[in-house]
Amino acid sequence: MKKILSFDVGGTKIAYAVVDELGQFVGEVNKTPTPKSAEEIRLFFQNTIRQYYDKIDGVAFSTAGAVNAEGTRIISFTGNLPVGYNQTDFLSLTDKPVVVENDANSAGWAEYALGAAQGCQNAVILTIGTGVGAGIIVNGRLLKGKSGAAGEMHFPIDSGHKRRCQGCGMWDCFESFASGTGLGKFAAEILGDGATGYNVISGKQQGEPKCEQAFNLWQDYLIKGIITLGNIFDPEAVVLSGSLGALVEYAKVEAAVNADILTPALKLYPARFANDAGLIGAALLACKKLSETV
Ligand SMILES: [Zn+2]
Repeated sequence: MKKILSFDVGGTKIAYAVVDELGQFVGEVNKTPTPKSAEEIRLFFQNTIRQYYDKIDGVAFSTAGAVNAEGTRIISFTGNLPVGYNQTDFLSLTDKPVVVENDANSAGWAEYALGAAQGCQNAVILTIGTGVGAGIIVNGRLLKGKSGAAGEMHFPIDSGHKRRCQGCGMWDCFESFASGTGLGKFAAEILGDGATGYNVISGKQQGEPKCEQAFNLWQDYLIKGIITLGNIFDPEAVVLSGSLGALVEYAKVEAAVNADILTPALKLYPARFANDAGLIGAALLACKKLSETV
C-alpha cells in the first residue's frame, strides 16, 4: 500500500503525518510551530522528508495560497506565511514524487473522497475560518481553472460599499461577510467596538438576543453565498468545514437555500474531518497522481 508523507502548512503551525492510500494515518500526526523564515521552512521540509525517506512513496503539501494546475508550486501571495515561502521549489526537496495543493482544495478532496461528500460527483466544500476557502468538485474532479486558482470566494454578494475586503480589495464580497472576520465585523457593529466573533458565539449559546442577531446576520450572508454556488455548480452537497462550519444551523440554512435556488435541492452537511482534512486530502491527491503516472 502506498504511503505519503503529508504536510499541512499554515501561518502558525505545520502539521505532518504519514498517510496511506486509504486515507488512514500511519503513526502520529505531528505539529510544529511554523519557522520564521522561508529558508528555515525549506530546511524543515528537507530534514523531515529525510527522516521518513525509506518508508514513503511520495510527499504531499497542503498549503495556503493558490497552487498551479500542475500541483507543483504556489502562484499567489500566501498571507501570514514568511516572505519568500511562496517561491518554495517543492520539487527540489526530494527525488520522490511531490504533489502540492491549496489547503481548501485538499480539505475539499478529503471530504469528497472519504468524508461528508463521499459518493457525490459534484460538491462544494467551504472552509470557514479567518477567510473562506473552497474546494469545488465538478464531475468527480477538483476544479482548478486555467491557472489552478479557481474557487476563490471573492464574488460580490451585497452592494452599497458596506465592507472593503482585505483579501481582494473589492467592496462587499462573499468572504468579507461569511468569514470569521466577517462575523467579527457584525459583532462590532451590533455589540459595540471591541466585540469579536467569539463574543457572538458564547453570547448566542447563552441566548443573548443581540448575539443571536449578529449570528443570524452572518448566517444570512452565508445562505446568500450558498444559493449563488448552488445555482452555478448544481452540487449534490455543500459541506461546511472550519471552526465556524461546526456552528451553522444546518436544517435552517439548508431549507433557506433550497427555497431560493433554481437548481434541484442540495444537501448541506457538516464536514467529517476537522483539522486533519488538509493532510488527508493532499495525501490522497498524491496517491491519485502516483497511480495515474504508473
Ligand atoms: Zn474579497
